[in-house]
Amino acid sequence: MPELPEVETVVRTLRKLVVGKKITSAKIIYPNLLKQPTNINQFETEITGQTINSIERIAKHIIFHFDNKVLISHLRMEGKWFYEEIGSQVNIKHQEAAFIIDDKMQLSYYDTRKFGTLHWQDVDNFRNSKPISTVGPEPFSELVTPNYLFNRINKSRKHIKTILLDQTIISGIGNIYADEILFDAKINPLKSGNELKLDDFEQIITSSRKILNKAVELGGTTIDSYQSAHGIDGKFQNYLKAHTRVGLPCLICGDTITKIKVNGRGTYYCQTCQVLE
Ligand SMILES: [Zn+2]
Repeated sequence: MPELPEVETVVRTLRKLVVGKKITSAKIIYPNLLKQPTNINQFETEITGQTINSIERIAKHIIFHFDNKVLISHLRMEGKWFYEEIGSQVNIKHQEAAFIIDDKMQLSYYDTRKFGTLHWQDVDNFRNSKPISTVGPEPFSELVTPNYLFNRINKSRKHIKTILLDQTIISGIGNIYADEILFDAKINPLKSGNELKLDDFEQIITSSRKILNKAVELGGTTIDSYQSAHGIDGKFQNYLKAHTRVGLPCLICGDTITKIKVNGRGTYYCQTCQVLE
C-alpha cells in the first residue's frame, strides 16, 4: 500500500509528465472509482477541456488542480497512474479511467484491487470537505509537536502501532513506515498510548521525519507491487531495519527480529531494542 513517500514519488513523477497538459476527453471505465459526483457523464463533460495546472500531495492523496476544480485521487492498495500513448495500455484489464491528453497521449488509472477513489470538487472548499477534511497533519507539519501528540494520544489504550496508522492523528504513515519509525524510536509497538511520555512523542516525531525524508529521497519502498509510474521502483526497501526482516539479526543489537500481529497488521520489531517495560 503506498504511504507518504510513495505517493510523493508518484506526484513528483506526474508533475514532470502532465502539468500544463490539457484533457481533451475523459472516460471512467470502472464506475465505482468515481465517488463524487455520482453522475459519470457530468464529470466527464466537466473535466474535458480543462488544463492540469499543478499537482500537490496531501498525506496519501494526490490533488490535480484545474482552474476551479480539483481531482482528488487516493490509490489505496494498488492504484497506479501511467502516462502513455493511446492504444499502448500497460494493463488494459485493470484500466479504470482514461484522460486523453492533446488527442494523442493518455493519463490512465489502473487498479488491480479496485479500492482506489476519485473525488471531483470545487477548489474553494475541498480542504473543508471529505476526504481531505478528516486528514490529520503530516509528521513534517509544524502542528505536529510533542504536546499535540500527547494531547491526542495520552488517554488512548490502543497500541502505538495502531495509533500511528490512524490518519486523523498524523497522516501519511502506513504499515511499513510505522514499523521503521518505532524501531528507530526504540518504542515497542505494543505500548499503549497512555503509557507514553512527552519524550517518547518527541522521539516519534524525530524518527518519523528522519525515516520519511530518507524514503522520499529514495523514491519510496518497492515491496509487493508499488511502482510510482512507468515502472519506476523505489529503493528504500534496501534500508528497512525492521519491516519484513523476521528471523534476521537486529542491525543494532544482533537479537532476532520478531513478527507479531497488532490489530491484524503484520508488525516487525526487536524485543531487545524495543523493550516492553
Ligand atoms: Zn535490537
